[in-house]
Amino acid sequence: MPTTKDFYKILGVPENASQDEIRKAYRKLAKKHHPDANADDPSAADRFKEIGEAHSVLSDPEKRKQYDEVRRYGGFGFGKAGDRTGPSPRDFASRASRPGGEESFSFEDLGGLGGLGDLFNSMFERGRRGPGTRDRTRKGQDVEYVVEVPFEQAVRGGKVSVTVPVTEECAVCLGSGAAPGTGLRRCTECGGGGTVSFGQGGFAVSRPCPACMGRGSVPERPCGSCGGSGQVRQNRTIQVSVPKGVDTGSKLRLTGQGERAPGGGAPGDLILTFKVKPHSFFRRDGLDVHVTVPVNVVQAILGSRMKVRTVHGKSVVLRIPPGTQSGTKFRLRGQGVEKGERRGDQFVEVRVEIPEVIGEEERQALEDFADAAELRY
Ligand SMILES: [Zn+2]
Ligand SMILES: [Zn+2]
Repeated sequence: MPTTKDFYKILGVPENASQDEIRKAYRKLAKKHHPDANADDPSAADRFKEIGEAHSVLSDPEKRKQYDEVRRYGGFGFGKAGDRTGPSPRDFASRASRPGGEESFSFEDLGGLGGLGDLFNSMFERGRRGPGTRDRTRKGQDVEYVVEVPFEQAVRGGKVSVTVPVTEECAVCLGSGAAPGTGLRRCTECGGGGTVSFGQGGFAVSRPCPACMGRGSVPERPCGSCGGSGQVRQNRTIQVSVPKGVDTGSKLRLTGQGERAPGGGAPGDLILTFKVKPHSFFRRDGLDVHVTVPVNVVQAILGSRMKVRTVHGKSVVLRIPPGTQSGTKFRLRGQGVEKGERRGDQFVEVRVEIPEVIGEEERQALEDFADAAELRY
């Protein structure tokens, strides 16, 4: 008889508990079993997840109603064996099973009869599946990674190669975990079911078997390359097209580039977060670009034309009018970062540089200038 979770038992509330009681029980338990507060207890995360599942179902009146219905059919391994009146859960599950559907213990999309089917599905999946077939439809984990991109490449787009550590199938045993030439045997701990249950009275809770990691089978002789896990950590290098105009914090999802699924299901996704490296000349503020350029004292007084580099790799001519003060900012319209339809501007701040040392001739010229302009010195 497959066993599954009793959400009322998990939250420690009676079947007729009010929403208020459920919420209070959940808060108390979630706090107590939070993984951050139980860093030295690896099972805390599972417990925490279980509490969350229980709460997500019981706190939603519609989901709770459906759950109660399933529970009344007696498919949970509690309740009297004789009083089963509804359809056999096995029939229900197979009728409602969808090929390629995800194994879901989250009950996220319960709704209508299809949703109820999913509920049955996930509840009896573990019981129905034979050794080694668990997790067949579970998606691999998503992997998040931060990619540093050179400033100009972030502006213009381009390709970068990214090396991400991921868990790959062991090439020696092809993921079975068994040394070449040896086979697998049924796990004695769980009898091949991949889960162990414990509990008391009529209640039982099941967990993935720790001896076989939920696979239901163990290698006769462990593979020397992966130690019997069937998986190895490897660096995977992929070429990533950086979209034009990415900024620090921009994200890119690469479907199917995450962790492979434990039982041959769809791999997870790789989620990249870009981090733009600082530049020695350009500074970026959204789509706008800021630069500071030095001008000499004569350029500032008499005016000038100068070439200024832009992030697009070109130079534009900037006209400095006569009498420009140090700190004045000029705008080069449309010369900022381009992203979709939008284009930022480039702002050029001029800094007037005063010569530290001058020669005798220059000194005489400045004194003549001062006399002519009636300046005191
Ligand atoms: Zn191996
Ligand atoms: Zn086992």
